[in-house]
Amino acid sequence: MKINVKAPAKINLSLDALYKRKDNYHELEMVMTTIDLADRLQLVLLEKDCIKLDVKAHFIPDDKRNLVYQAAALLKERFQIKQGVAISLDKSIPVAAGLAGGSSDAAAALKGLNQLWDLNLSLEELADLGAELGSDIPFCLYGGTALATGRGEIIEPLPMMPNCWIVLAKPSISVSTPGVYRDLKVSEVTHPNTKGMVQAIQEGSFEGICDNIGNVLETVTLVKHPEVKRIKEKMLEFGADTALMSGSGPTVFALVKQYSRAKRVYNGLRGFCEEVYLVRPWQEQR
Ligand code: ATP
Repeated sequence: MKINVKAPAKINLSLDALYKRKDNYHELEMVMTTIDLADRLQLVLLEKDCIKLDVKAHFIPDDKRNLVYQAAALLKERFQIKQGVAISLDKSIPVAAGLAGGSSDAAAALKGLNQLWDLNLSLEELADLGAELGSDIPFCLYGGTALATGRGEIIEPLPMMPNCWIVLAKPSISVSTPGVYRDLKVSEVTHPNTKGMVQAIQEGSFEGICDNIGNVLETVTLVKHPEVKRIKEKMLEFGADTALMSGSGPTVFALVKQYSRAKRVYNGLRGFCEEVYLVRPWQEQR
């Protein structure tokens, strides 16, 4: 038996950190949406009790350090699975980019293995398991557009994002997510209007989304890495309706209603950045 699963990337339309909790995580409010830039996984059932992982990309571990491996190992241990799986992972999502590539791969592995090993787990059960491996995995399991709270693991699905063009640009620097949260001063930043963003999504208002877009982590990453700020400014200069850093960065995305302008932003950014993508919101139904 063989199963193919797609693992789409996400962007944060808003990301707010309200306060630091006693367990050292920040209490978050994020509106996230999946985009049409996806890794691909193929899962093949093995009768032998083992997990084989083949990663078609450089510099990504193909052992226990990979979230896909961890997802398979967690299901195996929790449900005493005696069968095995050979997984091949074809990466298209840039790594360590703020696009939740690893989390989405893990979510796709959980979904695929639920089918392959006949586990009959509900989406909620898979999300609870996913949360043990990473805070963004529950969102990646639901996909679409959603409000994520807690440390990101509590998901309230929202209507689909109105159609538009999304230009992504990832500078070739790496950003440490724990480091960004460590340097964030929640009492000193301007917080995005999460309620306004949720309402805009509910009304299907592209303008409302542009008005309420915001990410508190920009206060850390944009100061430390001025090139990220420059990319954002370039996107706006080239005609983006809005631009924002995703997650802890360093990827910046622009939302653009008109294709001709999106193409201009895309072409303009290619002069500054090696990794630039022109995509749309993820359209698959839940
Ligand atoms: P987030 O937005 O959730 O912070 P990210 O996009 O910044 O995620 P990832 O691409 O998920 O970051 O990868 C971060 C690190 O996780 C990488 O440096 C890599 O070594 C490790 N990793 C583990 N599993 C995977 C995977 N399946 N794909 C990519 N990276 C993985």
